[in-house]
Amino acid sequence: MPVYDYVCERCRKHFQIQLSYSEYGKTPVHCTQCGSETVRRRIGRVRIARSGSSNLDSFGDPDSLDHEDPRALASMMRSMSREIGEDLPPDIDEVVDRLEAGEAPEEIEKDLPMEENGLDF
Ligand SMILES: [Zn+2]
Repeated sequence: MPVYDYVCERCRKHFQIQLSYSEYGKTPVHCTQCGSETVRRRIGRVRIARSGSSNLDSFGDPDSLDHEDPRALASMMRSMSREIGEDLPPDIDEVVDRLEAGEAPEEIEKDLPMEENGLDF
């Protein structure tokens, strides 16, 4: 079942929801935090939910990652977020999305004030 990313326009909560293709567009989506229906689908990207292992589960030694690989960097950031048990802030989450989409960090950096996020690529 596809997983859709949403951002709540009211409280800025980023959440994911699983909807079947037939449900999507018909089922109202509510913010998981404040219950608002004023939610926005994020960046037109759909992940297929996998049962069992995911890419992240095979995540190993950070030092072994190729930091020139945007997807590896994104994977590392998601893993870090999971380890501390918190969602990434929405702006950083967008960066991770774009890294996963294969965009170069330099390109993303042009669009975003990265220094304010404390990120150092
Ligand atoms: Zn909300």
